[in-house]
Parts: sequence; structure tokens; C-alpha cells
Amino acid sequence: MKARMDQIKNELHTKSYKLTPQREATVEVLLENEKDHLSAEDVYLLVKEKAPEIGLATVYRTLELLNELEIVDKINFGDGVSRYDLRKEGANHSHHHLVCIQCGSVSEIEEDLLGDVERIVEEEWIFKIKDHRLTFHGICSGCQAAQGKGAESSSLKAVY
Ligand SMILES: [Zn+2]
Ligand SMILES: [Zn+2]
Repeated sequence: MKARMDQIKNELHTKSYKLTPQREATVEVLLENEKDHLSAEDVYLLVKEKAPEIGLATVYRTLELLNELEIVDKINFGDGVSRYDLRKEGANHSHHHLVCIQCGSVSEIEEDLLGDVERIVEEEWIFKIKDHRLTFHGICSGCQAAQGKGAESSSLKAVY
């Protein structure tokens, strides 16, 4: 985590931004919650524990800056809330997401599954792809298992 922090510090420096204590606290929270998809308010509440004097506007501006610098991805899963997702070190695309429409859980696929699709788009549309977003909406394995216990027999009847 220290190494990633240093790397982000360098990225800011090369683009003539300073890692102020407020920015550092914000990045720390993102690193500590790498698997989560936090909203600006979520980040703010966690940053406040480290830097009580910080305001929501500062956290929000920092997140927007990190998004511009492609250190975080700003994503929206269709619930109207922007969430901030730390980009994996060296990743040149934002990872894919699986959003469960029942329990709201979000899983990540880090492997880039769109290589072939990108090749087709680049060749047929002469379009140079820089990034893409991919979110699947469906029912997670946990919800399927929970449902399966009650509904399996009736859904099997429907199939046969
Ligand atoms: Zn994610
Ligand atoms: Zn689920």
C-alpha cells in the first residue's frame, strides 16, 4: 500500500499537483477500501476520521482531480450515485463489474475480457479505443443459491 501511495504521489507530482495532507488522507481511504465502491459521502465520512477538519467539498474536489488523472474511475451503477473506484496499478482499462439486482453486491472482474471486441471496433469503425466501461446487471451466486433452495423444484418443472 505504501508503494502504491508513493506511485500516486509521483503521478500527482509529474502533473504539477501536490499531495496535500487532505489529498493524502483521501487516497489512503481509497487504498484501504480498494474492494469497495464508495460514494463521495462514504469517502468523506472515512476521511473525517483521519482528518477531522476536512470538508465534503475538499474531498469531492480531490476525487474529481483523481478521476481526471485516471487514478480513480468514476462509475455509476444506475442508482444515481457516483462511486469512486481506485484503478489497479498499471491498468489501462477500468475493470468489469457484476452488479446484483437483488442484494446490490458488486464484484469485479480484473481480467480484460473485451480484447476481441475492441479489435473489431478499432478495425471496422477506425476508432482508437482508450478505455471502456462494462457492467453486467444480474443475480449473484449468493442470491441464486438462496433462491434455489425454495424455488428450484418449481423452476425445474417449468423447464421440462
Ligand atoms: Zn470496481
Ligand atoms: Zn445478490
